[in-house]
Amino acid sequence: MSASLFDLIVIGGGPGGYVAAIRAAQLGLNVACVEKEPVLGGTCLRVGCIPSKVLLESSERFHAAQTSLAAHGVKVGAVALDLPTLLKRKDTVVSTLTKGIEALFKKNKISRYQGHGRLAGAGKVLVTSGGGTMELSASHILLATGSKSASLPGVELDGDRIGTSTEALGYPEVPRRLVVIGAGYIGLELGCVWQRLGAKVTVLEFLDRILPGMDSEIAGEAQRLFTRQGLEFRLGTRVKAARRRGDACLVEVENGDSIECDRVLLAVGRVPNTDDLGLDAVGITLDERGRIPVDEQFATRAPGVFAIGDVIRGPMLAHKAEEEGVAVVEQLVKGHGHVDYQLIPGVVYTHPEIATVGQSEDALKQAGTPYRKGTFPFLASGRARSVGSTDGKVKMLAHAETDRVLGVHIIGPNAGELIGEACAAMAFGASSEDLARVCHPHPTLSEALKEAALAVDGRAIHA
Ligand code: NAD
Repeated sequence: MSASLFDLIVIGGGPGGYVAAIRAAQLGLNVACVEKEPVLGGTCLRVGCIPSKVLLESSERFHAAQTSLAAHGVKVGAVALDLPTLLKRKDTVVSTLTKGIEALFKKNKISRYQGHGRLAGAGKVLVTSGGGTMELSASHILLATGSKSASLPGVELDGDRIGTSTEALGYPEVPRRLVVIGAGYIGLELGCVWQRLGAKVTVLEFLDRILPGMDSEIAGEAQRLFTRQGLEFRLGTRVKAARRRGDACLVEVENGDSIECDRVLLAVGRVPNTDDLGLDAVGITLDERGRIPVDEQFATRAPGVFAIGDVIRGPMLAHKAEEEGVAVVEQLVKGHGHVDYQLIPGVVYTHPEIATVGQSEDALKQAGTPYRKGTFPFLASGRARSVGSTDGKVKMLAHAETDRVLGVHIIGPNAGELIGEACAAMAFGASSEDLARVCHPHPTLSEALKEAALAVDGRAIHA
């Protein structure tokens, strides 16, 4: 056992932890990062955001080659799926990016420790790996240990046919029948991937709608489009059990029905990762949802111990964790740092994409906030027509008296990229009139945002 003294030890090398470590090093701190996996990047890079986006892109191209290229005058003959190559490309993208973070750590002179990190009293972290246990010490410790897939009583995960998103990122063959439990971000993204690759996908959702929390008009439109693409939704369906039956699986739902399938994807949310973190050693107790309580400065009740990302309150999103990572370190070093929780965008990377920032219409109604609404369909966009992707719309919500933009919700081509403009405008307190008067390039999809802003005042040009 040896001891090293740092200014900051970050436990967890995901988007929250590695970004915090880099920002701290930029600000002159002597930083260590403890990560149990052999590669940096956390769930997002290894088994989350990045690999799923690779699969979404590849499956969309496979699907387009079969269905829409001919309309562009491109003849490709018989289209066949080479799943091993598709999966290998995903692995290559992931390893390139994780190595990139390793290089950033070297450039910023961050000390990397591979092993399980555990708090061991004030300013002390024990790192356990195959090689034994060592002790590190620091004036500040940042917990950024992320989250893990939630389990569901009765669903017997076997790491193979009944699994979570981790297994669904690498099925060795296209399942003939896939049952997805949960119509949230993960269920829809990975459900769409395997549906496009040829699986018959049934999505079982406990609530009477998909994408809980999302603007319900946009979520309804998404359900209609995904149904048209071939996904089957069974809403208001609570899953009681799922178990293996030989090479097949049997999923039982509350009304007594059972569904036989080849694979099951459990996607009913994620829970904070606090296993064996030594929280007792510093007097931290979890809240009712298993999260680490923090104040506005991300400080836990233990002096010198901070927490960010999926282990604390707020949406479990990589970019939220990154913002917190920068804010916590800037607060420590410069005395100020800030995250605007009203403006954290969310994107579902299906086809079409769904993107959202600010308040939903449902939330405005519930709060009794007076608002005006402008929508613009991609059907009326020249660029969407040329691309051949006319499903969906942009919806803008602005305060009825001040005209300040309160929410923007998009379902349609490149929605995830388009929402960035809305985030920037809202961060600067823009009104819908401001956005409507900005000259947008023609022909682009971004004009749909301008048109939705015009529509708030009933003066969209092309609709
Ligand atoms: P989620 O919370 O988005 O959705 C889970 C769904 O499961 C909900 O609709 C819920 O009602 C349903 N559910 C719960 N219990 C059920 C039951 N017994 N039977 C049927 N349905 C049930 O969770 P997720 O999709 O697992 O994603 C986990 C986290 O990861 C989310 O916080 C999400 O923000 C994040 N994520 C984000 C992205 C992205 O940004 N594109 C992608 C993937 C995951």
